[in-house]
Amino acid sequence: MTANSSAPQPNPYPHLFEPLDLGHTTLRNRVVMGSMHTGLEDRPWHMNRLAAYFAERARGGVGLMITGGFAPNRTGWLLPFGAKLTSKTEAYRHRTVTKAVHEAGGKIALQILHAGRYSYWPRSVSASAIKSPINPFKPRALSSKGVEDTIDDYARCAKLAKLAGYDGVEIMGGEGYFINQFMTPRVNKRTDKWGGDAAGRRRIATEIVRKVRAAAGPDFIIVFRLSIADFVEDGQTWDEIAAAARDLEAAGVDIFNTDIGWHEARVPTIVTSVPRAAFVEWTARLKAEVSVPVCASNRINMPETAEEILTRGDADLVSLARPMLADPEWAIKSEQGRTDEINTCIACNQACLDHAFSNKHVSCLLNPRAGNETLLTLLPTRRGKKIAVVGAGPAGLSAAVSLAQRGHTVDLFESDDKIGGQFDIARRIPGKEEFSETIRYYTRQIELSGVRLHLNTRATAQQLIDGKYDEVVLATGVRPRIPGIPGIDHPKVLTYAELVRDGKPVGKKVAVIGAGGIGFDVTEFLTVEGHPSLKLDEWKEEWGVTDDLTVRGFLTTPKPAPAARDVVMLQRKSSSMGKDLGKTSGWVHRAAVKAKGVEQLKGVNYERIDDAGLHISYGEQRERPTVIECDNVILCAGQESVRELEQPLKDAGVNVHLIGGADLAAELDAKRAIGQGTRLAAGL
Ligand code: NAP
Ligand code: SF4
Repeated sequence: MTANSSAPQPNPYPHLFEPLDLGHTTLRNRVVMGSMHTGLEDRPWHMNRLAAYFAERARGGVGLMITGGFAPNRTGWLLPFGAKLTSKTEAYRHRTVTKAVHEAGGKIALQILHAGRYSYWPRSVSASAIKSPINPFKPRALSSKGVEDTIDDYARCAKLAKLAGYDGVEIMGGEGYFINQFMTPRVNKRTDKWGGDAAGRRRIATEIVRKVRAAAGPDFIIVFRLSIADFVEDGQTWDEIAAAARDLEAAGVDIFNTDIGWHEARVPTIVTSVPRAAFVEWTARLKAEVSVPVCASNRINMPETAEEILTRGDADLVSLARPMLADPEWAIKSEQGRTDEINTCIACNQACLDHAFSNKHVSCLLNPRAGNETLLTLLPTRRGKKIAVVGAGPAGLSAAVSLAQRGHTVDLFESDDKIGGQFDIARRIPGKEEFSETIRYYTRQIELSGVRLHLNTRATAQQLIDGKYDEVVLATGVRPRIPGIPGIDHPKVLTYAELVRDGKPVGKKVAVIGAGGIGFDVTEFLTVEGHPSLKLDEWKEEWGVTDDLTVRGFLTTPKPAPAARDVVMLQRKSSSMGKDLGKTSGWVHRAAVKAKGVEQLKGVNYERIDDAGLHISYGEQRERPTVIECDNVILCAGQESVRELEQPLKDAGVNVHLIGGADLAAELDAKRAIGQGTRLAAGL
């Protein structure tokens, strides 16, 4: 238990923490850390970092961990010179990882991932020569001999994983990667024994499992990650998935992990607007087909959800990948009934999947130590200081709590009557309810770490000077930018904060100035009635997911609920709107706004605002003057730093540190804010 934790309570999640006997080995509980490719796998010199990352989570009580993906051969690389396991030399390097995990009491399996046509290099292969819509390279169709060689490569990889000290392997058969490509008529047009019909299409999967079992022996865990809903046209039907599962079990699978949606699917499966445990009904169907344990995955981020799944008997285990980045102690906190101490993954993807898909090392917006365990440590201080932190948004909260955890005496001043800052706004956006969890986490951490919180207190420079603080951290955040448009003080103009946070009334026709992250959030706030992310049936209709299991890929025509208001989004740039939103979540926001019929006007000049509405024109010549008739104009035109305290404090000789939006409003960004807060705290 860490220094800042409360006393353990009796385990409130008995199913989650029941050991699982696999016959040849026993898992200490039902918590699986799902595979997340961190980028550290790709370079041998990062093995120590990888070992520290996994060991921290093993100490945190996870039952079974799965590594990021390792290719069984070069053609299966995710990207040139990416992670692979093809030789004894490579296998021996992994012993750093397996030893660290075993010493910490954990078990770990290596994921074998052949990218197939998702490989980012020109020599990729697949079942047929059909390019993926999300990859520039067209794959080559493997010959029959090539298929057989690849199956042997999987077996060699598993044997090497055993040599490396792993407790097992997970064979990636989902997400639209190589095996999944073979299993669907979408990509497999073959007429040899590796295609033709459903039995031919799944043959490669069963052969891989059979040969892996033969190579690795009976005392080795084989997890197969099976796609239980492809969510692409010409994906599998349920009967095909069930038949594959039965064959795979017979071939030697110990555990089925479940996988939802291909990378190229246009149904969101992991972003924050996906309801929690949205896909568990598919997991339950799989469980009815097989007798080996089945693991549920996707949008399971809290132990209550996990326990409900297991109690209902929908699955035998639960897999959490991103939540283990956000909080390495997720399992032990759950087991000890310290649920309110969990730093809950908010499914934002900003520092994990957005990084993975930009070839950057993966971390976590909420926990910058993730993947950086050897680089960013919060050691107890030898010389406790008296420190003031001003502002209780993400930057100030992370700094204050981290400083107090290190042993400093911290006063946290907040002018509002609650903590959260920009997160208090974000949590009110439909589909972003998870952001409330972060506020709950910090509320609890403030109590545990002993931060002295002063709400409703606008700290003045004099107060801070009189307080004789050793250091003052200014995390005073931002205020919305008010553009100099004639008529900007018209009563119909509201800032996004007045609309979303203060709940000011808004009419049925609305113009939104600014189309960045906040412009999109506000547009969703205005067009969406209620909170559909909390209602699975409505969510399925919105995205076109059918319960008819005979339909390939389980896709139907989306039926989005009508927009609650007529909204026009505007920006001065002529570039496409929302292009700078998150790499893996931006398309969801763009599609959601499009589905609501929101008009998007680019390349505009704002002329004035009056009773008639918002007057605009286009281009340098101010052509096509137009009035957008509207009841309200909402300003989402970026922000400006609030840092009035800086100069007087500096003038008085106080050590001042600016973090978050107060430091740089142009890139107002919670990832940077929390990272800055934590790093500053580590160094003071
Ligand atoms: P932003 O992304 O920088 O967008 C600001 C918008 O305001 C732009 O559309 C810009 O377009 C417009 N603008 C700037 N100056 C203006 C002026 N003087 N007059 C009129 N319009 C002006 O900022 P944001 O939307 O406030 O978001 C801030 C940060 O929050 C982002 O960096 C993002 O990381 C994060 N965020 C992300 C999301 C998400 O991904 N879903 C959601 C919320 C927040 P023109 O200059 O072309 O007019
Ligand atoms: Fe979860 Fe966001 Fe952290 Fe990724 S970056 S692990 S989605 S909180």
